[in-house]
Amino acid sequence: MQKIKNYINGELIEPAAGHYIDNYNPATGKVYSLIPDSDEQDVEKAVQAALTAFPIWSVTPKEERSRIMLKISDLIEKNLEGLAIAESIDNGKPISLARTVDIPRAASNFHFYATAILHYASESHAMEDMAINYTLRTPVGIAGCISPWNLPLYLFTWKIAPAIASGCCVVAKPSEITPMTAYLLSELCIEAGLPKGVLNIVHGYGHKVGAAITAHPKIPLISFTGGTKTGAEIARTAAPMFKKLSLELGGKNPNIIFADCDFEKAIKTTLQSSFANQGQICLCGSRIFIEKPIYEKFKKEFIEKVKALKVGNPADADSRLGAVVSKSHMEKVLSYIDLAKQEGGTIVSGGFQVKLEGEFAEGYYIAPTIIEGLAYNCRTNQEEIFGPVVTLTPFETEEEVLHYADSTQYGLAAILWTENLTRAHRMASRLHAGIVWINCWLLRDLRTPFGGVKSSGVGREGGFEALHFFTEPKNVCIKLK
Ligand code: NDP
Repeated sequence: MQKIKNYINGELIEPAAGHYIDNYNPATGKVYSLIPDSDEQDVEKAVQAALTAFPIWSVTPKEERSRIMLKISDLIEKNLEGLAIAESIDNGKPISLARTVDIPRAASNFHFYATAILHYASESHAMEDMAINYTLRTPVGIAGCISPWNLPLYLFTWKIAPAIASGCCVVAKPSEITPMTAYLLSELCIEAGLPKGVLNIVHGYGHKVGAAITAHPKIPLISFTGGTKTGAEIARTAAPMFKKLSLELGGKNPNIIFADCDFEKAIKTTLQSSFANQGQICLCGSRIFIEKPIYEKFKKEFIEKVKALKVGNPADADSRLGAVVSKSHMEKVLSYIDLAKQEGGTIVSGGFQVKLEGEFAEGYYIAPTIIEGLAYNCRTNQEEIFGPVVTLTPFETEEEVLHYADSTQYGLAAILWTENLTRAHRMASRLHAGIVWINCWLLRDLRTPFGGVKSSGVGREGGFEALHFFTEPKNVCIKLK
């Protein structure tokens, strides 16, 4: 059975204690590889390697950092098919999604930051003829990067790329549930000639490896994407050490559909924003609010189209939904469907585990589920389910739907469907969210700030925001007379 290895100081090595964790294929429910069950000793080795590499990497000319990163980006593209297959097997997502979204985006993340540093300028503030201030931006040091399982390579590289582009060295931990493409990335980094110690990948559990990274005194900065509860735990550990923190956390995003929308486009995109990646994207619009005049029409057509979505083997080209990521996650999602029934909801589509045949009989499949008849403030509509489950709620006025939309503890993204220009701008400015998509979803320009408000996170990723995060500004003031 394939054994994943840690990537420390430029080498692929076994975990110090020699222990491994089973890695499951969610499509079959079977163990198919082994993951290092690393601990503090491995994190310590990784930190030492990063500390040794930092003095040189932090002053390596940006052109050279860029050249190596572009090579990594090219290698990801060259290996796209193999990486897409690996991602699909590890995570359960349809291969078509991994091939068109996850892996291309991982290549773009490296490409984007490899070129962004070539255009990155610091500020200068002149005080008439008295003095000039200029701002130096230097890499912070060793960055701890911790990422989740839903978009494994996509989100892992979204942190690593700006960190190493900025001149930081990295100790990173992918989710232990989906480690395979991070491991394959370490092989590509070696091939690209990334100097040893610049990127170190330590595999293992969050409560061991993740906690050791967060608590390490030589890691002054943590970039984390994951659940809100874990984010709070990280913040508790990091705050007394005054670490710089970027936390991208959970979401419970509203998808607001006005009667004057382009109906066909709204339905088509809502299928995606509800069920892409089995609903396991922090940006999915799991609470669908529909203006009353079109509620019944929307519901009828949406149900028809959702029932036609094929849940199947992720390797099949026509599977629109694959498996959810793990048995425990499947049980969690199913328990929320039960809760919705207890709360008075009606399941109008799906609502059950899908049992496939043959080698997929033990896989973790859930039918795309639509629920209606729930109060906006019940638990089903307030808590993050993170699966293929959406609720439908009618509304009458803008004020009413704004109240519903902002009623959760989260504020990551909001989706809006209307052809009324002034309403679109008015609503966008009033919605309490880090990202608002109008008449689209998941359309991403990597230059834009990305992140959430309230319990959806602290700080912003993307564009120069990330380069700011991984660097420390220093003002220099020169008196002219
Ligand atoms: P978790 O918070 O459980 O885990 C995220 C990462 O943190 C994993 O690598 C995990 O390791 C690690 N971890 C767990 N405990 C600790 C700890 N005590 N200290 C340090 N690290 C720890 O999230 P999930 O992996 O379950 O991902 C799903 C969540 O991520 C959802 O809430 C989703 O909304 C959110 N998310 C947010 C996004 C955003 O941009 N705002 C984007 C994508 C997802 P291990 O795997 O071993 O538990």
